Amino acid sequence: MRQCDCKTIIAKVQREYMKALKQLFLLCLMSIAASAHGAENFAISALGEHLFVVTGPVGNTLVAADTDGLILVDGVPEHYAREYLGFVREETGVDTIKTLVLSHWHPEVTGLNAILGPQGIEIIAHENTRQWLGTTIRERGETILHTPLPDNQLPNRTFYWGTLDLPFRGDRMEIGYLPQSHTDGDAYARVIGADVLYTGAAVHADSWSVVDVATNGFIGGLMDALDSLGSMIDADTIIVPASGPLMDKADFDEQAAMYKALNTEMIALLRQSRGPDEVLEANPAKGLKPEWGDPADFLDQGFRSFYGHLRNGRHIGGGFP
Ligand SMILES: [Zn+2]
Repeated sequence: MRQCDCKTIIAKVQREYMKALKQLFLLCLMSIAASAHGAENFAISALGEHLFVVTGPVGNTLVAADTDGLILVDGVPEHYAREYLGFVREETGVDTIKTLVLSHWHPEVTGLNAILGPQGIEIIAHENTRQWLGTTIRERGETILHTPLPDNQLPNRTFYWGTLDLPFRGDRMEIGYLPQSHTDGDAYARVIGADVLYTGAAVHADSWSVVDVATNGFIGGLMDALDSLGSMIDADTIIVPASGPLMDKADFDEQAAMYKALNTEMIALLRQSRGPDEVLEANPAKGLKPEWGDPADFLDQGFRSFYGHLRNGRHIGGGFP
């Protein structure tokens, strides 16, 4: 006879309950912030001392109020830029923007560059992100996805391997590289003492993590990114995903396990010589996370991203001859 696992069930219910409470609390904070200042598109909540998450129409940004100005981790689409800058200045009471950190090149996070770049404000990014922003990007050699930004809007401080450290009120913000995951210029930001991790585009809590094959995103690299980020967190870490509600370690581990399982299934389909259409047809993501919407782009782009990595077989269960 099977033993009753009431303890596990109770623990699970408690966990879900605490999670719901936490999200409700965050929502309350957001609506208070929104109604108090008439902001239409943005809401702010504190993560620690002088440290905030700002939630907007396309995702989350991290705001650190240093003694001599704000450090913004990720921007917003260009048409929200003025509203966003006004909002964070008013909410934090700090006028000076000191630094903007970019997690990757996509327009959803680089729309502040047009305003902050020409003012000579420090813009930090991975070197590949600076290169993508400064060039014409085409999808499969045809459709133009991006035209070069003017020089004065490009990141003016870059890093490649290793990490870049920013001092922050006796604490330290670490910016690091996640090779070839969402793009090939992904960065995370981590405030060490406060134990806050901004994941960048590898992790979303409300939608599928789609890789951008046009700029060398790779599902195998996404698995590496989940491993790297997973090694930086513990039960107390506040995890700020690119979009959706804040996460804790349990949320993160659950999501990482799901992606690992999906990746394994997609590798099996690849090794059976299936094509992207057949992967969509088989839909290994069926029934998972219906609230995230259609997984088609995740599956299609993720599967196509294997093609550039067939010889170096580490991510695909051995190389093809
Ligand atoms: Zn993106």
